[in-house]
Amino acid sequence: MTAVLGIDIGGTKIAGGIVTDKGAVLGDQTVPSRAKEGRDAVLGQLSILIGNLTAQATEDITAIGIGTAGEVDPGRGAITSATDNIPGWTGTPLAEICRREWGLPCSVDNDGNAAALGELWFGAGRDFHYFVYISLGTGVGGAVIDGGRLLRGHGNFAAALGHTTIDYGGRSCNCGSTGCLETYVSGTAVTALARELGAADSGRELLQKARAQDLHAQTLMEDIGRYLGVGLANFVNLFNPEAIVVGGGLGEAGDLLLRPAEVTMNQRVLQGLRGRTRLLATALGNRAGFMGGAVLALSSLGRARP
Ligand SMILES: [Zn+2]
Repeated sequence: MTAVLGIDIGGTKIAGGIVTDKGAVLGDQTVPSRAKEGRDAVLGQLSILIGNLTAQATEDITAIGIGTAGEVDPGRGAITSATDNIPGWTGTPLAEICRREWGLPCSVDNDGNAAALGELWFGAGRDFHYFVYISLGTGVGGAVIDGGRLLRGHGNFAAALGHTTIDYGGRSCNCGSTGCLETYVSGTAVTALARELGAADSGRELLQKARAQDLHAQTLMEDIGRYLGVGLANFVNLFNPEAIVVGGGLGEAGDLLLRPAEVTMNQRVLQGLRGRTRLLATALGNRAGFMGGAVLALSSLGRARP
């Protein structure tokens, strides 16, 4: 049995797990990322997390894989560009720092790519060769699996799904554009909207209220679902996937969000694509990111998908 560490660095928290080549999680932990304090604070938190996990591991850890917010050069394992979700993150040679500190092979990729690989190997994407993974978290990330492989594009920037425009002249986004999907369906956006409309104090509370049949909360969830559906219709028209897997904190809303999204999506896709794309909730939940990190580590060791 091979055991690796999979890590997921986000704007709010860093999650990590000890994962085997069969996808079993032998231990896991989450720490705050302290992203607002900048790069060194995040690296400090990462170090604490890796130290805790290696201390509790009963198996030999043979590699570390990290999915992180921001765009990544996977060859160098360095952050090529990041938004203000983690100030100062751009330029960080994360794989090199990690190798130096822990003496283990270390692979790094964008968090959306990593989570999609997690779903592909161990989760909701196992049965598909063509799927889109979208994560509705602090920001909106994602990846496209095309023929069983990540679609990377020239320069590894492909599939910045959260920054596709769904409303020309719409809300300002921290990427510098306006009307990005992220500004409508990220956890941050949903919390802001719920507060603005007096529906709830957080995305989580909004979800609880919608589940408890609160009409105001349900209507708002449906609206958010429709915005999501517009974005998903674009992805269906672009990539013709077999399925779209929705993860991230807001992905936990399940049918409350996915059913209105599915209706809107099917209204807007090309006729020949209507009703032909499955819309699924993540199978790995908030573990998708670190499970994906583990896939990066396992791949670097030459392990094949089980
Ligand atoms: Zn944007």
